[in-house]
Amino acid sequence: MKRRLRAAWRGRRDWFNPTDREQRIKDYVSLSNKLIWQRQASFLAAALLTAFYFDPVIASICYATVFVSELLDQLLGARAEAWDGKDPVVGNRLLKRITFNTVFSSVAIGVFVLSIAVQQTSGGHFTPLFFLFSASLFAAMYNSQLVYILVLRLSIYGLTFLAIAFLDVLRYRPELSSNIWLEVFTIIFVLYFIADTSLKFYKSYQERLDQMRRIQREAERTKAAYEVKSQFLSTVSHELRTPLTSIKASLDLVSTGVLGDVPTTLKPALSIAAKNSQRLSLLIDDLLDLQKMEAGEMEFNFRTIDVNHLVEEAVEATDGYASKVGVPVTTTLLPHPVMIEGDQVRLIQVMNNLLSNALKFSNEGGSVRVHVTATEDRVRITVQDDGVGIPEEARHRVFDKFSQVDSSDIRKVGGTGLGLNITKQIVDRHKGLIDYESEYGVGTNFYVEFDRVHADFVEDTAEPAFKLSA
Ligand code: ADP
Repeated sequence: MKRRLRAAWRGRRDWFNPTDREQRIKDYVSLSNKLIWQRQASFLAAALLTAFYFDPVIASICYATVFVSELLDQLLGARAEAWDGKDPVVGNRLLKRITFNTVFSSVAIGVFVLSIAVQQTSGGHFTPLFFLFSASLFAAMYNSQLVYILVLRLSIYGLTFLAIAFLDVLRYRPELSSNIWLEVFTIIFVLYFIADTSLKFYKSYQERLDQMRRIQREAERTKAAYEVKSQFLSTVSHELRTPLTSIKASLDLVSTGVLGDVPTTLKPALSIAAKNSQRLSLLIDDLLDLQKMEAGEMEFNFRTIDVNHLVEEAVEATDGYASKVGVPVTTTLLPHPVMIEGDQVRLIQVMNNLLSNALKFSNEGGSVRVHVTATEDRVRITVQDDGVGIPEEARHRVFDKFSQVDSSDIRKVGGTGLGLNITKQIVDRHKGLIDYESEYGVGTNFYVEFDRVHADFVEDTAEPAFKLSA
């Protein structure tokens, strides 16, 4: 018995100090605030009905009291809003206020309903009982966050129910077979129904809270695993880069013949080694960029830059590769500077990626054309090729990580499948747009668009101004 009492006491203490108490208080107050108009409408309707059919003075007084309790709830809502949900002292204070408001408002509602019952001298108490039933159901549905508050409110309503039930028993001392006793037993049944419904609502809220906690834990675990992965990737990439740089340098040194003549039989093997170390180094650079970008550690140095210069510099930088693959690059710039806000180094990286893809996927005898066009507010750089093109069904994965439209591409032309993903992230950081139009087997136009810094528009584009995509 003692043990049971102690357990009950512990259980009671849990009501006062449940897990996630802060979260529950916040949920309680915010839901209560959300339902204010719904409550007001029911109170007003009840008050008007009572004023019309019973004593208007008593109805007004009761309505005024309920209204005051609503004002108190509003004040409480404002306090809870300002609370960060962490400080337990504020939490305690709020809980005390919630308790006070609950007692105040449920007693006010109880007295209101009881006053109607007292005024009804015959025909049962359908109206006050239904008012009370609605109020109890409302509490059962919306007060599950703080079970102790729910129990408090329902207890006061329960007492009022019983007071109404026994009001006529005391008044008329009826036979057990009379309708008055039937009403008493019906009320007891209704009380059981309310308790059962409250329990169901409470359990479903509890389940939701548990689910939320599980999701939160899962998210934290995923985040931790993700951080470990990023850290691992970054360390491995850095560790690989240093020896790789020296391998590449040594291979270059051997290939150039500075260290002595290279036997002809060795040359193909050396060239394969050099090509693959170059590929590996590109992959490591891309991985490091990606990791930095995802960790939000990539620094952007924004300043006003001229798009014409940007394009010139980028095309110049790919000159070597263009002549290696034998695909000429032509450039059409605007006859006047077009300024955007951007990071020169990162935007060169964007252009390099688009240009090297265009060159890489070009067919023999093809060419790559770069155009700069502008409207009043935007500027677009288009990189056009007559290469292999991208099939329409691959559109959704072109900008994905490690995505290659045709995985046999990697063997033919090399690549990591990271370039466009990094490029898109850089363009996004510039609040720009990147997209493409392509016809499989015919060619591809990749374009990037940015806001112009000042709209001193000169309608003098080398190409007809582009239509802004939606
Ligand atoms: P990769 O390192 O493979 O070039 P990207 O992310 O830059 O990786 O490009 C992803 C894929 O998009 C490429 O593997 C290729 O299949 C396709 N792609 C990109 N640019 C072009 C282009 N100009 N022409 C045809 N396909 C392209």
